[in-house]
Amino acid sequence: MRCGFCRASCPVFKETKNEGSVARGKLQTLLALLEGEIPASEKALLRLFECTTCDACSAACPAGVEVSSLIEEARRRYFSKLELPLHEWKVEITREMGNPFGEVMPASEGEASIAYFPGCTTQFRAKEIEEAAIKLLGLIYEDFAVIRDFCCGAPLLTFGSAWEDFIAQNRAKLEERGVEKLIVTCPGCYNTFRRHYPGVEVVHLSRLLLENIEKLSLSPLAARVAYHDPCHLARGADIYQEPRTLLKAIQQLELRELKHTKRQTICCGAGGGFPLAFPELSASLGKKRLEEAKATKVEILTTFCPSCYLHLKTLAGEDLRVKDVTILLAEQEAKL
Ligand code: SF4
Ligand code: SF4
Repeated sequence: MRCGFCRASCPVFKETKNEGSVARGKLQTLLALLEGEIPASEKALLRLFECTTCDACSAACPAGVEVSSLIEEARRRYFSKLELPLHEWKVEITREMGNPFGEVMPASEGEASIAYFPGCTTQFRAKEIEEAAIKLLGLIYEDFAVIRDFCCGAPLLTFGSAWEDFIAQNRAKLEERGVEKLIVTCPGCYNTFRRHYPGVEVVHLSRLLLENIEKLSLSPLAARVAYHDPCHLARGADIYQEPRTLLKAIQQLELRELKHTKRQTICCGAGGGFPLAFPELSASLGKKRLEEAKATKVEILTTFCPSCYLHLKTLAGEDLRVKDVTILLAEQEAKL
């Protein structure tokens, strides 16, 4: 339709003011590439990576165009034609070491039909989320496994590499271990499991905690708190009420809303491999989000995603406390 409604919602376009950055421009570039009207130049292909896959454009699109799915598919087609050393390294190292950080994969723990999957970003860069989640799960289940020895495959999907063989191996591992229910904290892992691992029940921790809220004994916390909706959780999985209800279960906590909330959330700049190729733009998006938080005069900014948590926490420095909801709940849980 080329209506341009997506221009009002794209966080990248708001920074660059360049038509090539927004969904309409990206899709026109992609069409021209596919029809051979323009050469696959570095400039044209880089447009495909100048995207956080936040899907704010899709939410605004009257034609229902699923932009991030098209971007992922386009990246897959053109990835090998573009020199993006960091992206290439991430793909190679994910295949070689089993994770996009090049770390040695830790062993999994326990064997049970219910398992917690922390995911690579959490277990290698935000271990405090994993520890908090395991403590909270201990209030709900007597026995559960923790699966740490493989990556869900999201980096391969995001960067445009072939993922089918990688995910097939993981599915076989889950089947061998008899895992029927997988509990996930990371929105990226959550969506990857839901879309590419049929036969496994995938549950986000926020939903599980809400279903079992009577098992929590949360201590009061007199603080002004806001919640940053991760794009892949709010828009990608319709999970935005659950974290708010959990936060409101903490007595004396005053929950304030940011300017962009729930399905209208705005990207903090951490998604879609965006910080790797565009670190400055990524930081600008994060700072804008922090400005929204500061305008509400909150003391703590929460979120429910290891990537948003790490990105916002790094940018906030000493100015504002940033916490994952999992961490805050574990801190307030009187039984722990
Ligand atoms: S992607 Fe959707 S909102 Fe953007 S120009 Fe095309 S039809 Fe309009
Ligand atoms: S997915 Fe997000 S960053 Fe990418 S074009 Fe759409 S609104 Fe812009």
